[in-house]
Amino acid sequence: MEFVRPEAVPPDGPDPIRLGISACLLGREVRYDGTHSRDRFLTDELGKWVVWVPGCPEVAIGLGTPRPAIRLERRDGATRLVQRDGAEDLTDRMREHAEARIEALRNAGISGYVLKNRSPTCGMERVKVWEEGGMPSRDGVGVFARVLMERMPHLPVEEEGRLNDPALRENFVARLFAYWRWRELLAAGASRPRLFDYHRRHKFLLMSREPAAVQELGRLLGTADASVDPADLAERYMDRFTRAMKTTPTRKKHTNVLQHVAGYLSDELDGGDRRELSETIHDYRTGLVPLVVPITLLRHHLRRIGQSYLEEQVYLRPHPHELMLLNRV
Ligand code: SF4
Repeated sequence: MEFVRPEAVPPDGPDPIRLGISACLLGREVRYDGTHSRDRFLTDELGKWVVWVPGCPEVAIGLGTPRPAIRLERRDGATRLVQRDGAEDLTDRMREHAEARIEALRNAGISGYVLKNRSPTCGMERVKVWEEGGMPSRDGVGVFARVLMERMPHLPVEEEGRLNDPALRENFVARLFAYWRWRELLAAGASRPRLFDYHRRHKFLLMSREPAAVQELGRLLGTADASVDPADLAERYMDRFTRAMKTTPTRKKHTNVLQHVAGYLSDELDGGDRRELSETIHDYRTGLVPLVVPITLLRHHLRRIGQSYLEEQVYLRPHPHELMLLNRV
């Protein structure tokens, strides 16, 4: 398995977060026509922070480059991956490869996957499916992508096209880092104290996505009988956590969280600081400033005041600030 490390990370240093990726997005000329689909955000920005684990499933099953184009077709009610000239049905070969590859990726410790959109192999959604003798519908999922999402349902998975949207991009990267921390928890051994600690640190992040999930997950952990296996509890926790984190946060929800955090600090601030903070949150709510502005001000006050519960909140630093993702939402 190939690992592409960021240039800034020394070869003998610890690995940063690992991400699977459709190889054509890194600029590899593996598409059916011998071209690539290099994505600058992935290679030039996110690539400074992650180790890529690239793969091209079509090349991996022995189709050369260039190769005849393939597509999804509906045959007798089932979706099949076939060559356009009808020469070969590749569905079973691709599924077999996907099962083995995804097991290897799991063992390699990936924390997410970026897929090429619209591909009958890698596309995550809205892939064309050709109906018998008719027009294509856009309700397909690439064969490799489907197996990936079925076998690793908690893994953050996104398509490169959707990552052009700043809110989707920010949410995906926040999910990557949350999942990376989750893998660290599992590696240390799922236990009740570790689950409570994870939940405490991610409360405001969850609240900015789906406020109801904070209470639900707190109840799940708080009411679980001592006889419940912590590994089962962890699985149920991550099921619900994943669902909540798939919700892209809105300005209104962020505003609620910011006001909540400000409420914790209120007694420690003088009148002028309180007013400035309130005005900054208002400016964010009305779209005058991006999210990074009120968050930076909150972190400034926190550094001065010191409040351990807030300081450990992932919400206030969900990903490396050099990625500038909070500057664009
Ligand atoms: S979309 Fe997937 S299968 Fe197609 S060239 Fe890219 S990596 Fe290969």
